[in-house]
Amino acid sequence: MHLDLSTMKATQELSDWQWRAVATKNRELDGVFYFGVRTTGIFCRPSCSSRQPKRENVSFFITATDAEKAGFRACLRCKPLEAHITEPKSELIAKAFRILRNANVEIAAVEDLANELKVSPGHLQKTFKNVLGITPKEAIDMFRMENFKENVRDADVTSSLYDSGFGSSRSLYEKAGERLGMTPAVYKKGGKGIAIRYTIADSPLGKLLVASTDKGICAVSFGDDEDELKRELEQEFFAASINEDDRGLKKAVDSILRGLNGERSILTLPLDIRGTAFQMRVWSELRKIPYGETRSYKQVAENIGDPNAIRAVARACATNPVALVTPCHRVVASDGKLAGYRWGIERKKELLDKEGGK
Ligand SMILES: [Zn+2]
Repeated sequence: MHLDLSTMKATQELSDWQWRAVATKNRELDGVFYFGVRTTGIFCRPSCSSRQPKRENVSFFITATDAEKAGFRACLRCKPLEAHITEPKSELIAKAFRILRNANVEIAAVEDLANELKVSPGHLQKTFKNVLGITPKEAIDMFRMENFKENVRDADVTSSLYDSGFGSSRSLYEKAGERLGMTPAVYKKGGKGIAIRYTIADSPLGKLLVASTDKGICAVSFGDDEDELKRELEQEFFAASINEDDRGLKKAVDSILRGLNGERSILTLPLDIRGTAFQMRVWSELRKIPYGETRSYKQVAENIGDPNAIRAVARACATNPVALVTPCHRVVASDGKLAGYRWGIERKKELLDKEGGK
């Protein structure tokens, strides 16, 4: 979506306008939007009689569900969940807002919005002016701007996920997952309802754990101690049912061990891994690095079309769930230094020496 400068200048801030509605306790807009107060964790309808919050603590939501998803609880005084729209003109505006809020449907012209609402552009014009004091065109521009800013924010959210690591707040993951259409590992609540089979084999680099769901390999890791490897698996998939299955996984183990010698069948193993869209992009890029070659974090960032995401690429490498199958060991620092490896820098060195990588 493109916003030219004149649109941006002409555009009122949606939140400015919503704030004015809250400041004037506009009853006509109850049910049209909601506001949450971050200091109390409560969300209200615009007309709530509680003391007016400070503007900087307020977030706005077009639906009550949005407010709840963001972690706010319904105000006991104004009972926002019971906010019913009584006036047909408010009803029309609420519908318009929900359509405009849906970033998947881009509406640029008043006629398009009128069509969606099955009313005449003239009627829309009159209703907006009457209730909101702004034209439908102004409302469309406000929402376009808001959706645009949100997309930009999501890009930040995604990169900040990586800056803050896996221990960060669940709501961030959920937000990112929802928007990106992927389900990050954390959201899966430890593999609840999933059956995982695993085996531990000897490899030239120590003990090798391979674990699989019905759909594909979900974990490949190195360690020195079998119990430790098993404990890690159980921690990662704390809600899954986990059973040992040496025979069932023998083929997969053989394929992975042959991958150590450059056999490409390792690349055709089915995977069942979860990550954000960004992680998936990085991991899929890593699988393109041929045996015997290396790339820098910077090159990988460039190859996925996100040249500034070097740190985020490094994070994605460090969180690779399937050693060898996704060869994160073939990514090194720009100066050729090995940088880090999830399963120990010594193993990374050994792997690269073995592959003769330059
Ligand atoms: Zn309230």
